Amino acid sequence: MALTWTCHICGDARPDHRILVHTESKMIGRVEETVNVRYCRDRPGCVAGAPLKAKEWLGEVLLDAYLRHKRSELALLRDLDAAGFDVVIAALPPAVGLGEAVGDRLRRAAGPRRKSS
Ligand SMILES: [Zn+2]
Repeated sequence: MALTWTCHICGDARPDHRILVHTESKMIGRVEETVNVRYCRDRPGCVAGAPLKAKEWLGEVLLDAYLRHKRSELALLRDLDAAGFDVVIAALPPAVGLGEAVGDRLRRAAGPRRKSS
């Protein structure tokens, strides 16, 4: 029986020689988190979609690490920025107690900033 893999982009089962793996890694504290996305090497839509899917999964890993290790919101935003995210969508907490401070930090983080080149 031939080895097949399911493409993470189109969802089709493909023979081994038609599949490549896109890898994205990011250091979170002292741990390197890695995501691997399988995609069809011969389908342009899958080739184009693999880096986007990897970034989406890496974002989920960063968010999970933030929730599990109770890292600060700013550390999460810095990690997302360092991982190359252009857009982060965050809901503001109710402006009561700690939520007021967290909302203030998120609003300031959303403000204009200098681009480093
Ligand atoms: Zn595919």
